[in-house]
Amino acid sequence: MSAAAETIFSKIIRKEIPADIVYEDNLAIAFKDVNPQAPVHILVIPKEPIAQLADAESKDHALMGHLLLTAKRVAEQAGLDNGYRVVINSGVDGGQTVYHLHLHILGGRAMAWPPG
Ligand code: 5GP
Repeated sequence: MSAAAETIFSKIIRKEIPADIVYEDNLAIAFKDVNPQAPVHILVIPKEPIAQLADAESKDHALMGHLLLTAKRVAEQAGLDNGYRVVINSGVDGGQTVYHLHLHILGGRAMAWPPG
């Protein structure tokens, strides 16, 4: 499986449901998580509906790099000068709940390790 089924994130990309969008370009969009787990909690997603990291392919090489650099850019924009965490949950054991690939940017507090 490489294409995601329709998810709530597809509706956010198409602006059919509201989201607090903090960054957008032709490949990616970033918006605040509706249920934040830190003072800053932003999701970066590709506009292309890849379901999960486990479905990314060699052809997605440049897009994957773009998503990571977008996370860096969004973290800078959010003022996370003291650091932050980037998380990708993939699949059931990864705790993924929305099957449209997304990077969580978490910041504004010190993170614990290991995560639960
Ligand atoms: P996952 O558990 O799949 O790694 O993360 C999914 C994230 O999407 C969760 O942190 C959840 O709070 C967030 N989320 C789910 N539905 C919505 C929504 O409709 N709007 C926004 N902004 N975030 C959502």
